[in-house]
Amino acid sequence: MSETGFSEQDSDIAVKSQMLVDIAKRAEGGVYIYLILWLVIAMANGLYESHRLLLVFNTALFATIALLRVLHGRIVHRYRADYLAQLLNAFVLLVLINALHWGCLTAYVLSTSGLDELRVPMLLTTTGLVAAGSVVLSIHPAIRALFPSFMIAPVVLVLLSDFTIQNALIAGLCSIFSIYLIVATRTVHNDYWSSVKRGILLEERAREFEELSITDSLTQLRNRMFFDVHFDKEWKRAARHRKSLAILLIDLDHFKVINDTHGHSFGDLCLKETALKLKQVVIRTGDILARYGGEEFIVMLADTTLEGAVELAERLRQAVESIDLANDGQPVSLTCSIGVASLIPASPDKAYRLINRADKALYISKSQGRNRVEVDVDDARS
Ligand code: GH3
Ligand code: MG
Ligand code: MG
Repeated sequence: MSETGFSEQDSDIAVKSQMLVDIAKRAEGGVYIYLILWLVIAMANGLYESHRLLLVFNTALFATIALLRVLHGRIVHRYRADYLAQLLNAFVLLVLINALHWGCLTAYVLSTSGLDELRVPMLLTTTGLVAAGSVVLSIHPAIRALFPSFMIAPVVLVLLSDFTIQNALIAGLCSIFSIYLIVATRTVHNDYWSSVKRGILLEERAREFEELSITDSLTQLRNRMFFDVHFDKEWKRAARHRKSLAILLIDLDHFKVINDTHGHSFGDLCLKETALKLKQVVIRTGDILARYGGEEFIVMLADTTLEGAVELAERLRQAVESIDLANDGQPVSLTCSIGVASLIPASPDKAYRLINRADKALYISKSQGRNRVEVDVDDARS
């Protein structure tokens, strides 16, 4: 599992999901090709009069599979997150049924007297279809390996069962052609896969960088940049919906003394422990806890009144006070002062005013003796 929480399994799912979308898109153009080619060949050779059952049965089968493929293409985007494996299998099955059906139909034409006129067009279209299908769909390993065989094997078997030099020659050529297709499409297949994997790797890296850019490396809390961006959005939202917004500014008390007495790395440990404790209290979705500066933290509480904010601030103050730390066997007490302000934004600008008020309250808290929660009680609108 990477630090962004993007595991190898996720990566595998992302690759398959991408392949499903790509292959369904590539196959779109060929959905009706079997039906169209069959109808052209059949009508041109008067099958409607001479072999009506053969015409109707195969037309119905080609049309049904074409419709199923269209339906598949329509639902791929909506359901691929929940039914990825099933959708991929269904796609492979439909394509291979198409190939086998065409192969069997060509074999039937070759082996049935009275259909001589259809032999050359069917053989010609078979080679065209197998080549085009193999190239377009070879990004799926099963299709790449099976598609040429499914279409050509019935033809080869029928030709060999009625052994003549001519038939053996055509069967041999068809077999060489199929093997050549499987080998030739390897490059298309490999190129596709390396580009998909590269793309997914790049996305993963971009996610990691984004996560790093909004995280404070010492405490692993969100950093000030993240806070500023989201606070601004929340402020505007609160102004639109006339909801109150609260800010808590938390500053560790006499932290310089802790650093001077116990060293900077012990000070860092205090900051990490404080972050952990604060995190355990600020758990509501939508609220934001961030490291605002050196030993200063900030909390934004969405849709929260002053009473609610003060209550949470008191819990945070107690949480910091309860941190149990010692250096060289000597217990170290850690406390914080908190300034609270809450208001219903009156305009979408001036978000800084709320923070200024919390800062003012924090200043009062410091001057009143520290380790306490103080409130800015100005007019609750801005
Ligand atoms: P007050 O109670 O008035 O807030 O006093 P204070 O000592 O906490 O405030 P002051 O602003 O004088 O000092 C803050 C200290 O926090 C000084 C600085 O070295 C320390 N500090 C800031 N960032 C870090 C950090 O990342 N790690 C450590 N160990 N210390 C830090
Ligand atoms: Mg400070
Ligand atoms: Mg301080």
